[in-house]
Amino acid sequence: SLWGRKPFISGNWKLNPQTRDEAVKLAADIAATVTPESPDADVALFVPYVFIEAAQKSAGDRLFVGAEGVCPEIKGAFTGAVSATMLKSLGVQWALAGHSERRVIFGESDEYINGQCLKLIEQGMSVMLCIGESEAEYEQNLAGPVCAVQLRKGLAGITAEQMSRVAIAYEPVWAIGTGKVATPEIAQSVHATCRGILRDMYGDAIADQTRILYGGSVTPESVDGLMAQPDIDGALVGGASLDAAKFGRIINFQ
Ligand code: PGA
Repeated sequence: SLWGRKPFISGNWKLNPQTRDEAVKLAADIAATVTPESPDADVALFVPYVFIEAAQKSAGDRLFVGAEGVCPEIKGAFTGAVSATMLKSLGVQWALAGHSERRVIFGESDEYINGQCLKLIEQGMSVMLCIGESEAEYEQNLAGPVCAVQLRKGLAGITAEQMSRVAIAYEPVWAIGTGKVATPEIAQSVHATCRGILRDMYGDAIADQTRILYGGSVTPESVDGLMAQPDIDGALVGGASLDAAKFGRIINFQ
């Protein structure tokens, strides 16, 4: 892509693989699709905590195995929570923050999401901050303003220097798991808006270096058209990341 941004293809398994064996096989099958002929891209799989170590072993060094989230606290009485330090001790380098399912189903606020981003960065890890408007907001032409708020609040306190460890995933909520992928033109236009917001926040160099991925019903059929857009630097893939052949084709986008 432009400005030397390295493409970033990532999968998000969510609550899908049900057994360790299933996770091990899927990670291995996906890793096998990353070959020396593949595009020079970062590849990551965001997997449930319990499968992280097994998936790491299974995938080897062909891809990053990341976490689907993190607690904004590091230590203490937070039953059920997983900290950035715990993940770091497993060698995890990437985690998601702000996925719409976490925002909507689990009630995570922009402030909470910002805490996750800050904690990951403080630990020397990297974060993929997910943003995106709902269907109602889209219909009211509010994609830009909604993304602006989520970016500003999510990235509050993150310095320009730390932005090298941040990637953004634009995921319109109406496109997630619906089969209704945004057209390359619609996605490109919001990505350009998001890059403009980053430009405002951090200046030209950071805005031009930060990767903005698209997510929402990405498939082997839609990936190439999306990746051809100047401001689309990668994909965050849910459903299609559960099928090694499909995800492999996405990893090997053209
Ligand atoms: P989907 O999910 O590809 O199944 O639409 C994307 C995501 O939620 O990250």
